[in-house]
Amino acid sequence: MASAETIPVSDALQTLRRVFGYDSFRGDQEAIVEHVIGGGDAVVLMPTGGGKSLCYQIPSLVRPGTGVVVSPLIALMQDQVDALLAVGVRAGFLNSSQDFEQRREVEAAFLAGELDLLYLAPERLSMESTRNLLDRGKVALFAIDEAHCVSQWGHDFRPDYLGLSELHERWPDVPRIALTATATKATHAEIVSRLNLGEARQFVASFDRPNIQYRIVPKAEPKKQLLDLIRTEHPGDAGIVYCLSRNSVEKTAEFLVANGISAVPYHAGLDSRTRARNQARFLREDGLVVVATIAFGMGIDKPDVRFVAHLDLPKSVEGYYQETGRAGRDGLPSTAWLAYGLQDVVQQRRMIQTSEGDDAHRRRLSQHLDAMLALCETVECRRAQLLNYFGQPGQPCGNCDTCLTPPESWDGTIAAQKLLSAVYRLQHERGQKFGAGQIIDILLGKQTPKVTQHRHDQLTVFGVGQELSESEWRGVVRQLLAQGLLAVEGDYGTLLLTEASGEVLGRKREVRMRREPKRAGRAVAATAKRKAAEMPEEARPVFEKLRAWRFEEAKNQGVPAYIVFSDATLRQIATEQPSTLDELAGVSGVGENKLARYGEQVLATLAGGE
Ligand code: ADP
Ligand code: ZN
Repeated sequence: MASAETIPVSDALQTLRRVFGYDSFRGDQEAIVEHVIGGGDAVVLMPTGGGKSLCYQIPSLVRPGTGVVVSPLIALMQDQVDALLAVGVRAGFLNSSQDFEQRREVEAAFLAGELDLLYLAPERLSMESTRNLLDRGKVALFAIDEAHCVSQWGHDFRPDYLGLSELHERWPDVPRIALTATATKATHAEIVSRLNLGEARQFVASFDRPNIQYRIVPKAEPKKQLLDLIRTEHPGDAGIVYCLSRNSVEKTAEFLVANGISAVPYHAGLDSRTRARNQARFLREDGLVVVATIAFGMGIDKPDVRFVAHLDLPKSVEGYYQETGRAGRDGLPSTAWLAYGLQDVVQQRRMIQTSEGDDAHRRRLSQHLDAMLALCETVECRRAQLLNYFGQPGQPCGNCDTCLTPPESWDGTIAAQKLLSAVYRLQHERGQKFGAGQIIDILLGKQTPKVTQHRHDQLTVFGVGQELSESEWRGVVRQLLAQGLLAVEGDYGTLLLTEASGEVLGRKREVRMRREPKRAGRAVAATAKRKAAEMPEEARPVFEKLRAWRFEEAKNQGVPAYIVFSDATLRQIATEQPSTLDELAGVSGVGENKLARYGEQVLATLAGGE
């Protein structure tokens, strides 16, 4: 491999421009590419959409031999290979979906030195026959994609990834690059130790996703709120909606369809054919909404997902970050929207109480939930809080709901004392436990049948809380639960005091609370402005014409639309309206191959009338 060091790095930039049609590298890409081309090992932590693929694709093209990419996502290998073929890169894959003849063809191409990139599932790489095959050809590098799958504690653990530690012993001269979008230090450390990458250079990018606007809103009528979001801000856009249960996935998808939004469900209870079909439609069609449980999305390369909505509270900040990260891989403005309410806290606390496993496990789940709740209840910038959670610095961003419409924080100590003392009196004077609804009725002094029946109007706290509305009281309960100043138990979500409640009742502790802004109007206005900034209004009809052309082209080829051209590329074409092939070649994302293949068609589409 001594010759590798002599390859000029300018080859990398030339390849980027000629093959992919991009002007320059982004962020750490250049340093990573340079390091791997020179034969070095690398560990790359980069957020989704950061541009990890080029980090191994360019060195595979520049170094002699074939880049071998280990990827756990068999279902997506075809699309990954199609995307490379579309730019004229010679790529193939070997996995269990192929018959013997198809595999033999790919193997022959590899041995003949006719492949730039070869995708493999990890279980295939642990087979001796595959290793022999690689020995007989020339391997330029090993790329280990989704490297967090080696982590046993993560939720994507793949036992076959553990075997990848042997790559180095068998092929000591072949550089290895491990990549992941998982940001935690623990996962990073595990990747390094389990894959024997202690000597590798570590590249840790910022995990900020500046194009994603984070918003967390109080949950009232979640399905209607979702519909409103789609209609006002994301009509015709592709999006993912996450729900906790299969039942709510089904119901929400039906609701959207009944309201004229094209949407499909995706969850583990559907048969595998339906699941595969819905996923394929999502990848191939423009503007489909998938309503899914968290089982959907890993490795989905679709770059133009414009929004990710959560109708239920994610169980951890890691999960939230990973799921919202599927929006806006192409760098264009996107929305991460979460509706969150009291019931979410009650439900998740209960799930933890009744979960299997030991106390340590439950404690871990609780810590995850607490961090998620802190993000929901913060009066600070959501993005800064998110980045801090991953140990990275963050400044107020101007592109999240708390920055755009700052919530007030208020001194909730007296409200908290009233509520906690209602819980206390019920328990100690009456030996009773009740859920939030009854306690709020008591504070508001409502003469409901249930109040009369239990003679709760006789309590000294009856009617002492009329300064707040019912929904404000629900906010108080939610925030007390979030701060551990109140606990819930049982199927009815009855409220209990905690040890820390005593400090509030004893006036030893102040409680700060978040007051929801009345309207999220400014966030919406800012979104409209963002849209205008990214493409002038007069370019929109042209963009739609190009989109229609792309749709037909992709359909004829049987590939996802983004493989023909990304949205970002179409927007730039619509804005600049090039009139010659030379001008078109200057657009980002138009490389040599695509120019030759589509150039005339694009110019004709631009020149054509309505
Ligand atoms: P990741 O795998 O890290 O999520 P991708 O490799 O899919 O990210 O890249 C995300 C998007 O950014 C893709 O559409 C890709 O073509 C584009 N991209 C990556 N690097 C560059 C670059 N240097 N210039 C322009 N676009 C880029
Ligand atoms: Zn912010």
